[in-house]
Amino acid sequence: MRHFAANLVLLMSTLIAAGCGSPEQNFSKLADEFVYSTLAFSPVAATAAGLHRFEGRNLDEQLDDMSPATLDHQREYYRRFRERLQSQVKPEALSAQSRADLRIIQDQVALQLLDLEETQTYLHNPTMYVEMAGNALFTPLTLEYAPLPDRIRHIVARLRILPLLLDQARTNLISSPAIWTQVAIEENEGNIALVDKTIRAAVPAGQRAEFDRAARPALEALSAFQHYMQGSLALRDNYDWRLGRDLYTRKFRYALASGADPTDILEVAARSLQEVRVRMLALALPLHARLFANHRDHADLAGPARENQVISEVLDRIAARHSTREAFLGDASRDLDEARQFVAQKHLVTLPPQANLQVIPTPVFMRGAYAVGGFDPAPPLEPRLGAFYWVTPVPAEWDQPRIESKLREYNFYKLKLLTLHEAIPGHYVQAEYANAVQPATRRLLRALYGNTPYIEGWAQYATQTMLDEGFLDNSPELRLTFQKEELRVISNAILDIRMQMLNMTDREALDLMQNEAFQEAEEAAAKLQRAKLTSAQLPAYYVGWRGWLALRDKYQQAKASAFRLPDFHDAALKQGAVPLTELAPLLP
Ligand SMILES: [Zn+2]
Repeated sequence: MRHFAANLVLLMSTLIAAGCGSPEQNFSKLADEFVYSTLAFSPVAATAAGLHRFEGRNLDEQLDDMSPATLDHQREYYRRFRERLQSQVKPEALSAQSRADLRIIQDQVALQLLDLEETQTYLHNPTMYVEMAGNALFTPLTLEYAPLPDRIRHIVARLRILPLLLDQARTNLISSPAIWTQVAIEENEGNIALVDKTIRAAVPAGQRAEFDRAARPALEALSAFQHYMQGSLALRDNYDWRLGRDLYTRKFRYALASGADPTDILEVAARSLQEVRVRMLALALPLHARLFANHRDHADLAGPARENQVISEVLDRIAARHSTREAFLGDASRDLDEARQFVAQKHLVTLPPQANLQVIPTPVFMRGAYAVGGFDPAPPLEPRLGAFYWVTPVPAEWDQPRIESKLREYNFYKLKLLTLHEAIPGHYVQAEYANAVQPATRRLLRALYGNTPYIEGWAQYATQTMLDEGFLDNSPELRLTFQKEELRVISNAILDIRMQMLNMTDREALDLMQNEAFQEAEEAAAKLQRAKLTSAQLPAYYVGWRGWLALRDKYQQAKASAFRLPDFHDAALKQGAVPLTELAPLLP
């Protein structure tokens, strides 16, 4: 039924799109169809984006259909769409705005086909199903798009079909690398707790019986899936998480859309790493002289050995000033207020008008991917709803040395940098501007398939701008911590490229992070895990940061004496997350 209906819609919209009308109008119809159709492929993503109904379906009560027939249909849709773009759209006839949208759609089609035809994540990655289940239930719980009793009804409807999704997962999953299975098991624990504790506690008295009836079989299915992963799937671990050179290079192109290939980026990143270390030594030497007045500045050492010695001694002292496990979230909230005030006082960028940002603990089922923190924007179709700055609590069950290591890494200074990146002036500010893009289809497209170098690059670039403007009284400790973060951003890019396509070993990866980028053991171990969970995502920070700086230089040259920093920021953010290569022509 679903298959038939979807094909009919596709046929009708093909007829409409192929009809008369200006190239601009025809393209906008195609873009419209693409964004809503592909979003409706994933009801879980649709709820989060604020799309609740589509073609008579209540998406809030559905889960993504991962059956082979539906995946075939989706694959076919993307293939046909690629042909339609080729035959019906002439890029040179479009406005710069539409050309940017076209680029996003082309890359998204290519990325989806790469996954559906070649990588086939759904055959090998259990975290995909576990996170989908978690998001399906967590979004209606926390996102207040409807009164609570309605949202609980949506959760109940999704719980009823959750066993079906988990059955599809078992049928699809052929093999999975041990690391993916392990993370999925940990995150699935989070799902069980989410249903059994968090959601159960939020259900109004009148809906408890209905909830219990749906929750019991759902919890049984989640537990059975847990046993399946621990037993059967864990034995089938003969799948490599590495993409290899060919797949990775193509994914890198479509996902980052920066115009550069991984080998180019690897080369500049290796150079940047050395340059930053030299800058760090220069900044660390006066601090070293002050902090260690009674020992020499290690002039007996040379080159990297001296850099390592001086810089790590200073960073070690910097790390000693840190929060506690209990105060971590509260400290992040206070840092947020401080950042907001500074941005307003310096007028770095016009702050978003609404107050919808909340600081909350990272949901448990997402902590595998978000070991430190994250940001969850307001839905593009319901921009007035809440946006969330996630701070991942330090687990109480960890032993003392591990807790200490984590708190030292996310020390007084680094926690501030996290807040600047995730919230203000980073992701939150960017997402609020993106949520004001008009018309709604363009806003939805640029939010759903937003360019990650634009997004992550902005967060890094905006943090740098805060420091350049003197945040925290030009604290050299903060600057040195930020340079250490710069090393982390660079080494993340190197890690992703070398691990995914050049067979970098765990030992080499840890060596890079701990001996060249000053990372503590806990942080390096967590990043090593993270690097095996995703691909072509970690380089977005480095690629995007460079992109933003290059764009600002170009803009500043063009404006000459009329250049004003907040004008540039406001104008660039107003466009939403387009590929940085497409952004310059959109600026006034
Ligand atoms: Zn980020």
